[in-house]
Amino acid sequence: MNLKQLLRDFADLLFPRCCESCDQILQGNEATICTLCRITLPRIGSAGLNSESLQFKFVNLTEVHATHSFLLFTKRSKVQKLLHALKYKGNKDVGILLGQMFGQELKASGHLPEAEIILSIPLHPKKRKQRGYNQSDLLAEGFSSATNIPWSGAMLERVKYTATQTGKSKLERRENVQGVFAVKQGFCPQSAILIDDVLTTGATLEECARTLLTTGCKRFYILTIALAQH
Ligand SMILES: [Zn+2]
Repeated sequence: MNLKQLLRDFADLLFPRCCESCDQILQGNEATICTLCRITLPRIGSAGLNSESLQFKFVNLTEVHATHSFLLFTKRSKVQKLLHALKYKGNKDVGILLGQMFGQELKASGHLPEAEIILSIPLHPKKRKQRGYNQSDLLAEGFSSATNIPWSGAMLERVKYTATQTGKSKLERRENVQGVFAVKQGFCPQSAILIDDVLTTGATLEECARTLLTTGCKRFYILTIALAQH
């Protein structure tokens, strides 16, 4: 046992670290999410990550070539707990780890998109300041580290502050996000992966893609860590 392990084990005795998903005490080399949770968190689609129902989410946007979600989001589930830790408890490690796991599994499934760049969905500067970070950046960073596709959180910005999308219909959500994004001048990738935490109606992601379309971007891949079940 080396000194680092010894110190960690000692610290674990005094301040046990817990799994962000199930609250069980983490053992040995485990970090952030325990091994059992990593294996058993509910994946979308048993045969792969490309569920058919997802393909209809962006049916009006032919430039979206594929949509993938990693985990199934249901109320009071472990997935909800993880996303809550990421968005409201300041646990950035959860974002990086979920992004990495998604990237590794998508790569292993053979569905990894060939895209120039991964783009996170920006928060309005006011909201970003409140939270201290953008959770979508962390997902992009983790996904990028597992796939070697570069990422950026600086090419898109949110230029309008919008009310929460929660509780709104699909049409209301679409109207709510119209014109909220802007693309940095001179940025014109041919293909891009857009990554976000939860996919519900997809209105925000669609608006983001439509904004990028104006720059000449021709292919999009939409990736979300979780898919909300209605
Ligand atoms: Zn766990």
